[in-house]
Amino acid sequence: MPYKVLVIPGDGIGPEVVEAALYVINAAAAKYGVDLEVKTAEAGDAALRKYGVAMPPETLKLADASDVIFKGPIGESAYDVTSLIRMRYVLYANIRPVKNLPGVPAVRDIDCVFVRENVEDVYVGAEYKVGDVAIALKVITGVGTRRVARVARRYAEMRKRKVTVVHKANVLRVVDAFFRDVALEELKGLEVDQMYVDAAAMELVRNPLRFDVVLTTNQYGDILTDLAAQVAGGLGLAPSGNLGDGKAMFEPVHGAAFDIAGRGIANPIATILSAAMMFEWLGRSDAAQAIRSAVERSILQGVKTPDIGGNSKTAEVGRYIASIL
Ligand code: ATP
Ligand code: MG
Repeated sequence: MPYKVLVIPGDGIGPEVVEAALYVINAAAAKYGVDLEVKTAEAGDAALRKYGVAMPPETLKLADASDVIFKGPIGESAYDVTSLIRMRYVLYANIRPVKNLPGVPAVRDIDCVFVRENVEDVYVGAEYKVGDVAIALKVITGVGTRRVARVARRYAEMRKRKVTVVHKANVLRVVDAFFRDVALEELKGLEVDQMYVDAAAMELVRNPLRFDVVLTTNQYGDILTDLAAQVAGGLGLAPSGNLGDGKAMFEPVHGAAFDIAGRGIANPIATILSAAMMFEWLGRSDAAQAIRSAVERSILQGVKTPDIGGNSKTAEVGRYIASIL
């Protein structure tokens, strides 16, 4: 039985970086004998203009039937596509590894994994405006916190058994304190510390190697992972996986980057490393590891997009990495 993969190229630089990643996915699948059935479907701003909905019913049907979704960035309609997929399939843990790549100029050395809660917090979409007052509800549940903390535990057990819980319980004394308390309870037996989100932002720049696994809520995770990605060398390199108890979705951390779209200069490595995470999740560490090594080799050989100091095109990088495989 093949794994059913639904590919959503997305908006802006999405189609370019996803095309480059597909060279690599196909090469890795062929080399390592991974049976994939790949289908492609539209979603995002372009779909909204074309069909009047950002997530067309046909795409949703294919997503329902898939084992795994491989997605490029979505533009303005990200909430209607990315958040919808996360909520619909309860992909409650967003895994964002941040690590330097040899040959890529970085702010500092960093090697950690963010485990970002992915379906709660202010992302539940409970916003109201009443006259001169606008209100957003921040929702944290015990069940939601326990399940994402268990994912953080799993990653910690594969690494240094160390987790930092990031929150702002000195201000959100009910909601964030609840997240912290439930998380700390769930992480017993590991080396655990906690940090306010503002301090964590500072430490990520000052001394990022102090972090190993970072567990945090949805919005803090959103912000801190862009920061951490830049510390490691830029958004063009940062992959992610959205995990739940069934399906999973893999996508680059970055957005649609409309400022550079259509020019063939976007860095596909974030998307290619997301593909490596997908193979890992499919139980194929061999293919995942081969992709990571090929990415490193291609950078060291100077096949790089302009954001990391080269002059290669998006598609060239994809083809070159595929050829190494
Ligand atoms: P979103 O709201 O969807 O997060 P954003 O406006 O925050 O999007 P991003 O698209 O995430 O912006 O990217 C911010 C900037 O980083 C872009 O304008 C672009 O210059 C740069 N960037 C992002 N991704 C890449 C990439 N893959 N390759 C090169 N540069 C990138
Ligand atoms: Mg962004």
